[in-house]
Amino acid sequence: MSKTLSVSAIENGCVIDHIPAGHAGHIINFLKLTEQDGQMTIGLNLTSKRGGVKDILKLEGRHFTEVELEKIAIFATGATVNEIENFEVIKKFKLTMPEQIIGVMRCPNGTCISNKEPVKSHFTSTTDYHHGKLKCHYCEASYATKTLYQQLA
Ligand SMILES: [Zn+2]
Repeated sequence: MSKTLSVSAIENGCVIDHIPAGHAGHIINFLKLTEQDGQMTIGLNLTSKRGGVKDILKLEGRHFTEVELEKIAIFATGATVNEIENFEVIKKFKLTMPEQIIGVMRCPNGTCISNKEPVKSHFTSTTDYHHGKLKCHYCEASYATKTLYQQLA
């Protein structure tokens, strides 16, 4: 039973599995997960049964709201969320990129109005997300998610 980090080890809480490798840190920082009391286990660059490597987060005593899950999905599209109660997975679902991403990442375009006016940044995933890109609602340029993750608001 040396398979690391079994989901059942959590009594009540949440496991986010199959986070694209390298992105657990974004989730932790963005949701300030290090500032909470509950036990958290972080696995980085673990071998994934789906192939390649993945990150995993296990949080004891923590459940995420819809709004938080949407934010997690921005960094972890395709990840699986397992909600756990009494050591049982009571809910399991996959995260998908939200259609609208508001106030999370700054537009890399210095002349974009979202960087000059007091408005929240706004990206959409409906146009170019199949190419790994999100489109700025204001300047209408598309940027690779990788670039946008470096521009957290
Ligand atoms: Zn823009």
